[in-house]
Amino acid sequence: MKAVRQISTWWNSEQIQILNQFGLTVKEGFNNIFIEENELYFKLEPYFKKWDVYNVRGFDYSKEERLNSKYCVIQGWNEGGYPQSENDNGYKKLTYNLDNYCPICGIGFKQKDAFRLKNIPKHLMFGLHWTFGELFFNVDVYKKIFEPLDIKCCDVKLYKSDKVIDSIIQLVLPEIEETVNLSDYVAETCSICRRTKYHPMVQGFFPEHKNPLPHIYKTKEYFGSGAQADKKIIISGTLRDILIKEKIMKYYWFIPCQ
Ligand SMILES: [Zn+2]
Repeated sequence: MKAVRQISTWWNSEQIQILNQFGLTVKEGFNNIFIEENELYFKLEPYFKKWDVYNVRGFDYSKEERLNSKYCVIQGWNEGGYPQSENDNGYKKLTYNLDNYCPICGIGFKQKDAFRLKNIPKHLMFGLHWTFGELFFNVDVYKKIFEPLDIKCCDVKLYKSDKVIDSIIQLVLPEIEETVNLSDYVAETCSICRRTKYHPMVQGFFPEHKNPLPHIYKTKEYFGSGAQADKKIIISGTLRDILIKEKIMKYYWFIPCQ
């Protein structure tokens, strides 16, 4: 695993000249550069601070790290479109009980009804925009892989007919009560509801639960930025391996826990 910095700004000729002296080439105008967080980066960091560039820290994991961990965070999927209706966040009222929901930080929604989709995705597995804590699978995949493990599912409906879509299901993911140590994460406490969520970017290896739930589940903690808040989805190595072997998910969609 290595830390990588994404640095973005409108680069001017003076800045480019300095970067060139450090062996980095960048074009004038708005561009991203990616630098491993090593000696060179720390030499440049004072300049980046002075220039007030956008500087975000991410992580690169080796294939072995992703595939050898006992548990992983799911951080990738095929795109299945937007939950319906898209206008005025209509899907929230339709899909969630919002009694405990805070529109400022996005914490506290509880699913009460099926997600509605405009089109039926052809993918064997997908996620939706705006809602990063739910996974959807082809029904045959569900019956073969998840049902024997006693993992529950619920219906997905077609917008606006409300007809149940036969070919796909939503997994029902239990939520763990155990918390993890997230002291490396930037935490944000909402000024209205006083609840806390964490920056969504996983920092290094995600902390492993001492008493994980079986197979697949959600964290107790919320993650997100702005009005977005979702829980991370944790999956066992055994189930991850099956989904990769069956070509349903890709290995680089998994972030290792430790
Ligand atoms: Zn809030």
